Amino acid sequence: MVAPVGIPVSVPLTGSGAAMAQEFHALARVDRAASSLRLDAEEGVLVLALTQAVPWRAFTLDAPRRLILDFREVAWEGSGGDVLARALGVEGEALRAGTFRPGWSRLVLRLPAPLAIETAEMRTDPVTGGASVRIALSAVAEQEFSARVPDAAGGLWALPPRAEVPEPVRRQRGDRPLMVALDPGHGGLDPGAQQGGWNEADLMLSFARDLKEALIREGMKVHLTREDDIFVPLQARVSQARSAGADVFVSLHADALAQGKATGTTIYTLSDTASDRASELLAKRLDRADLLAGVDLEDQDDALAGILMDMVRRETAPRSEMLAGYLVSEIGASDGKLYKKPHLKAGFSVLKAPDIPSVLLELGFMSDERDLRRILSPEWRDSLSGAIVSALKLWAAEDAAKAALIRR
Ligand SMILES: [Zn+2]
Repeated sequence: MVAPVGIPVSVPLTGSGAAMAQEFHALARVDRAASSLRLDAEEGVLVLALTQAVPWRAFTLDAPRRLILDFREVAWEGSGGDVLARALGVEGEALRAGTFRPGWSRLVLRLPAPLAIETAEMRTDPVTGGASVRIALSAVAEQEFSARVPDAAGGLWALPPRAEVPEPVRRQRGDRPLMVALDPGHGGLDPGAQQGGWNEADLMLSFARDLKEALIREGMKVHLTREDDIFVPLQARVSQARSAGADVFVSLHADALAQGKATGTTIYTLSDTASDRASELLAKRLDRADLLAGVDLEDQDDALAGILMDMVRRETAPRSEMLAGYLVSEIGASDGKLYKKPHLKAGFSVLKAPDIPSVLLELGFMSDERDLRRILSPEWRDSLSGAIVSALKLWAAEDAAKAALIRR
């Protein structure tokens, strides 16, 4: 099949492309019935419904004018997108879709006029796991459209360097042992909170070791982000968890509060905005240890990676929330002692794995005498361990059931 006239297709978008696409796992498919296209010389709206969220981007190219959507990665039915073109009511020549590069799928839509991207967004449905890409186009002056075109010298079809988005961890479905990443806070040059001759780093490491044994007894696998009294930067803890194939990430702390009389166990999940001032300060203080250690906290992500991470995080967030819920109920039902507001949110860097449900547990506040006594008590620690094990089991079962619903 010959490429449509005027579109410099350097990679076959049909036949072999479709076959290649099938080699990749976890492909998103297009839900044609839920997709639509409205396009004229003034404006356009393309809605592409996908069975699952995948990294993507959109841009326009000139000569001929066209809209490009790249996905990582979508299985297109038919050859060259002809099935989709028919569903959207456009001529085959006006729409092409297929494998563009290994791992990348591309959709090319001819534009009848200089229409620029006004908005481009992907929404995900937390229940079905489905995603919907919506591109709104509006007419701009011919010159303005051309100006938006990427520099031809950079290679019209050359993709920018592949965004360093880590491969998503395959979501657990209960068909293999749950891999739990336990993250004993602080360590090495960062002792964490210090009170009465005890330091948080040591206490958390010993608690993590005991918790690890308890989880292994229940048939789970455990990765500790540090095995000794060493300094591990926050991002390294997260990437370790990913390398270990962690299904879930649990960071363990017992910080001290400079002000107030906080007491009890708190479960934190990630949020851009902190629940309260104390949570915000706590998150900042954990980051500060990295800064002091000379770790560059600069986000290395490019803009694209940033968008992708946010997108995956939106999927992961409800799973983290569910775990926090089980921790609150199981610790509450044990001999534990919960903080008055047991589930709080803050921007902890260590919770920012986009694809791994993550929680941070403040076992208690070392600044509080009763909390410290509890943390030092083997019986209390056993009881807390038991509650965490039980929360993880409940969470894993419900999470797996939800995953089964998504991948119908
Ligand atoms: Zn801490």
